[in-house]
Amino acid sequence: MTQPPVDPAVARNQPSAGTSTSISEPQTDAPGPRGLARRAMLLAGLGALVGCASQRSGRNLPGAIWPETRTLADAGTPVPARSTATTASSSLPGVMPRGKWARGNLNPAQANKMTPCRYITIHHDGMTPFYGTNSGQVAIQIEKIRAMHVGSNHWADIGYHYVVDRSGRAWEARSISYQGAHVKDQNKGNIGVLCLGNFERQRPTQQQLNGLRVLLLTLSTRHRIPGKNILTHQEWSSASTLCPGANLQREIVGMRRSGVLA
Ligand SMILES: [Zn+2]
Repeated sequence: MTQPPVDPAVARNQPSAGTSTSISEPQTDAPGPRGLARRAMLLAGLGALVGCASQRSGRNLPGAIWPETRTLADAGTPVPARSTATTASSSLPGVMPRGKWARGNLNPAQANKMTPCRYITIHHDGMTPFYGTNSGQVAIQIEKIRAMHVGSNHWADIGYHYVVDRSGRAWEARSISYQGAHVKDQNKGNIGVLCLGNFERQRPTQQQLNGLRVLLLTLSTRHRIPGKNILTHQEWSSASTLCPGANLQREIVGMRRSGVLA
């Protein structure tokens, strides 16, 4: 398992995961045992979990939750995304456009602009296992995650940039013009890829793995991201999570060993 590089230039930003609550977390570094215990208490009894749930330290606890905030460096007037040659585009060949599923737009006042992409991080949603394969079912599921990230976590938008469903389709999520909200303290230049499902409790389909592989290769080529910078959520030292679940983690390790992600 690759030890994620620690980038001191990466400011604490928008983390991943969330629940159906709107608990605010102070902008601290990785939580210590007290923080985790407090979080566990706060989250006890909560219902649906959204986004990279499953803490390492407790069954079915969601990952850290904290509000989507701007970095000090970026805390100026929001700059809306522009469709220019200098702005990264989320549009990739064969990727389902955001318009196919989203019922709301990103709030630019709450988001940081994306900096050059240096990492890709793979997640699962960690929710109730999802087996939907048709595009209508998938669209509803992604919108459900977006609505909870926005409505409950008060984030600018869904936390991830791309989603891969069980049929292997890739979907555009948060515009890559904006920093995501998916790894604690490590969102700068970090592309978030969500595989729909809970891979502690179900297995990814072969189509989903194929779709993920193609998307990872496309993104790494487009943004010149080396294979060593393609990580799973749990491989970040700032994270305390089971995400993307044992059954997907094993597949990613296998892809790495076979050279697919090199
Ligand atoms: Zn995750």
